[in-house]
Amino acid sequence: MQAPYQDAPPTEESLEGDAAHWVAHTVAMCYAHPEGVELGALDFPRLKEKAPNGVEITQDMLDGAELWADTIGAAPGNFINLESRVAVMGVHPHCYGTPDADKMGGGVLDVYDYKFGHRFVEVFENWQTLAYVKGVIETRLGGVCPDKVRVTIVQPRSYNPAGPVRSWPYSAQDIYTLTGKLHERAHAAVDMDGRPKPDAPATTGPECRDCKARHACTLFQSVAARIVDSSGRADLFELPPAQLGAELSYLDETLQRLEARRNALAIQAETLLAKGQSVPGYAMESSPGNLSWNDGVDVDEVAMLGATLGAALIRDPQPVTPTQAKTILKRRAIDDELLGAYTSRPRGKMKLTRSNTIKARKAFGVNR
Ligand code: SF4
Repeated sequence: MQAPYQDAPPTEESLEGDAAHWVAHTVAMCYAHPEGVELGALDFPRLKEKAPNGVEITQDMLDGAELWADTIGAAPGNFINLESRVAVMGVHPHCYGTPDADKMGGGVLDVYDYKFGHRFVEVFENWQTLAYVKGVIETRLGGVCPDKVRVTIVQPRSYNPAGPVRSWPYSAQDIYTLTGKLHERAHAAVDMDGRPKPDAPATTGPECRDCKARHACTLFQSVAARIVDSSGRADLFELPPAQLGAELSYLDETLQRLEARRNALAIQAETLLAKGQSVPGYAMESSPGNLSWNDGVDVDEVAMLGATLGAALIRDPQPVTPTQAKTILKRRAIDDELLGAYTSRPRGKMKLTRSNTIKARKAFGVNR
């Protein structure tokens, strides 16, 4: 369905995501190949420089990249595939993907995915990464699935109690079962030549938010009108300008009203939860804040701390962030305990969050 709209202009969010991926990939390459940095073939991205797509590099991107490089173990001698494309024939002859990183070691296949967006991405039964796993097994491991597979999502800006690095282990049987579902759904949607089947069943869901065809998808249009998810058949139909304007203004007004209603109910739910009453499906949770230098810790103090520990913690002329300082110390095998006296992670605000069935399913294993 998205095929006719592949050339749609990128959004600000996707441009920022592309730049952040480039920063993370480049930092990992620099740590994995320091000889390339010495020869000038590779260079660490710097704050406020431009990524190749013209987006300015931010501190969040640099911090995220350090976390990424550290999580995947980017270091000389550690063999990691970085952004290496795989075919996923076992799902569909036209299916392929590019895992951000993958490696095989100690009998465990690790597949990593980097997400820079704020929207929480669940690692458990994450279909995108499961397709990557299948592709890595086919493309690099001769089709033989190791007994242990671990998928890790690194999402530095997801301020969720689960933290920015989330892993989930799978057995070979899990991979067989779950990628079997992918195979079944892909073949229901697309023929062997890669063309959408005219009678392909479609179901709206959260994925519609990122679908490039959503403005023209008749199924999504009908859902937007009824504000509920639906199953049926999806076709493409571009709305004429007058109808488009009418529907857009109707949706804008509806959204305003829905938001007002939703906010009112949320306040009521928060009040009840604060009194100790339960509201089915909802809970109050606090998110951890960012690791920061303590109030009053200035550049000179960080420089002295670095000198005491034997590591440079100043990058012209500002101190590195506490996250970067941790990474620097870890890479140099220096105990970071002293850092704890200079940094803190303020507790985030309590927020109303939606509890779902995933926690229970995680406790009882993969859904078959
Ligand atoms: S149902 Fe959702 S994901 Fe599928 S084509 Fe329509 S908008 Fe896109």
